[in-house]
Amino acid sequence: MLEDDHIHDAAIEIAPDRAGRKRISIYQPEQAGLIFPETPEFASFEEERTYRKQHLVAACRAFAMHGFDYGFAGHLTVRDPERPELYWTNPMCVHFSQVRMSNLILADHKGDVVEGRHAINRAGFVLHAAVHEEYPEVMAMCHAHTVYGTAWCATGRPLDMISQDAAAFYNSHAVIGASAGAVAVEKESGWSVAKEIGRNRGILHQNHGLLTASHHSIDDAAFWFIALERACKQQLLVEATGIKPQLLSAKTAQYSREHVGSDYIGWLHFQTLYNHIAATQPDMFD
Ligand SMILES: [Zn+2]
Repeated sequence: MLEDDHIHDAAIEIAPDRAGRKRISIYQPEQAGLIFPETPEFASFEEERTYRKQHLVAACRAFAMHGFDYGFAGHLTVRDPERPELYWTNPMCVHFSQVRMSNLILADHKGDVVEGRHAINRAGFVLHAAVHEEYPEVMAMCHAHTVYGTAWCATGRPLDMISQDAAAFYNSHAVIGASAGAVAVEKESGWSVAKEIGRNRGILHQNHGLLTASHHSIDDAAFWFIALERACKQQLLVEATGIKPQLLSAKTAQYSREHVGSDYIGWLHFQTLYNHIAATQPDMFD
């Protein structure tokens, strides 16, 4: 793999802020003392678990806000910090807008619920379990049957680099045609996705829908899912005009991905949504 193909580590050098604190992104302010999301640090597994669960709930509610629900389809997972072989996920047949701290479920690789009262979406979970099992570094995943993502997935084509936003997926998304369209009830279907998702942020599962995976956080996976759906919508809009779009050069796309397409940037974008949802939907904490 070429050095510039890495998507999960920012290899770029960023100057520290004026107080001498390390920065990992040009979006972090140089001026010290301003209000800006801080990457969390945890004193215990319990604290970290609560944080991950709260952000998983917010991710589900962000999906509801974006209209990503389709009956019981769609699932989001994040590993438990203490027992990484177990994953927190949304309960089956609960609308994304009604997911809350108290109805999340904890499941194992086999799809058995080990904590929580609700049933799990087994067909969906095998996809996630296969990826989480194959890639210990995958922290979180998202999948839903969205309108534009599923529509673009039918073309069997990867995204063109039509915008800075699309460039977040430059060399980091793939189309999977194998087992496409068949309901993913069998683990084999999950493995076909698992094979492709290692170095890809997003997967376009032909005739099915979108998947995103993150090495960083559920925040990162959820934001890039929202971004991928949006990129599919934008590509469909451009295609509908019949006008051949101007594309970013490979160099520009690469540059954009490094600056606006990192794991940290996905996390940072999501804090805007998290803060909005936490302030306007306090029942998420119930
Ligand atoms: Zn699905």
